Amino acid sequence: VRWTEGRGWHDAQLVPYAPLSMDPANMTLHYAQTIFEGLKAYRQADGTVATFRPEANAERFQTSARRIAMPEVPVDLFIAACDALVQQDKAWVPSTGEASLYLRPFMIAAEVGLGVKPANEYLFIVIASPAGAYFPGGVKPVSVWLSEEYVRAVKGGTGAAKTGGNYAASLVAQAEAAQHGCDQVVWLDAVEHRWIEEMGGMNLYFVYAQEDGSRKIVTPELTGSLLPGITRDSLLKIARDLGYEAVEGRISTEDWKRDNENGTLLEVFACGTAAVITPVGSVKSARHHWTQGDGEPGEVTMKLRRALLDLQTGQAPDPHGWMHPLG
Ligand code: PMP
Repeated sequence: VRWTEGRGWHDAQLVPYAPLSMDPANMTLHYAQTIFEGLKAYRQADGTVATFRPEANAERFQTSARRIAMPEVPVDLFIAACDALVQQDKAWVPSTGEASLYLRPFMIAAEVGLGVKPANEYLFIVIASPAGAYFPGGVKPVSVWLSEEYVRAVKGGTGAAKTGGNYAASLVAQAEAAQHGCDQVVWLDAVEHRWIEEMGGMNLYFVYAQEDGSRKIVTPELTGSLLPGITRDSLLKIARDLGYEAVEGRISTEDWKRDNENGTLLEVFACGTAAVITPVGSVKSARHHWTQGDGEPGEVTMKLRRALLDLQTGQAPDPHGWMHPLG
């Protein structure tokens, strides 16, 4: 779908996947006006197909657009574009389990020019690709690197937007994590380099033992410099549905290390559209190295993972009306 200043959105087209042709002076290539989303269509237990919370992705896409000075895509248009593609590609939605059809809506500038200003023309495009189960051989905990040198986002910056530049800036920290033998980078706050923000492409959750034997689940609060994940938001609600106390809070690296050592922090996991839930098994930084709990996937982690996947695949009720059916 194309947006032109003074005209708005027009000329929606459903076309076979093909390369885009672009002028070398297309403003996106130079000034990175680019935002995107990620969501999945799952085969339901009854054989139909449904996407998970597309309204939430549509709304986050609007938030991202405002931050990057791009026009908002109306929620209805965003969902209609996703629906049209899923309908067209329905045969590609895997028939079982955790596999899905992954949708990637994105927007780029379409104006040609070398001046730094918002473009007067944009393209909103959705592409799709089948995605296998993230852990085909069983859920495996990841090792994380606490990045104390690089920061992902600052207050007033673009951290809460899903824009390409955030990911470009994260590549060097991801490479640093890999150099230290870790699977993923964990970002800290930009001011004190202490407060846990999020993982490379996922939000984080911490599971604590309470004195009465119950569990308390905490996720870092939205400071404006981390991405408000849709899985994160869904899990706050699912955890409460399952009877857990689930809250947003502040957790520092020292809290993480100390509470793991004294046995009150039982489990840590990351969550996002791609992997749904991934346990965190070990933590490393320039100064520290510890095993999280016993290094194995935790009980609450796996229970929440099952609950969310069962909801997404239509094997459990959908009390919040999150599934968007496509027939
Ligand atoms: N943080 C970042 C930086 C991400 O890229 C993602 C993936 N979109 C997430 C968190 C998780 O968000 P969601 O649950 O909406 O996939």
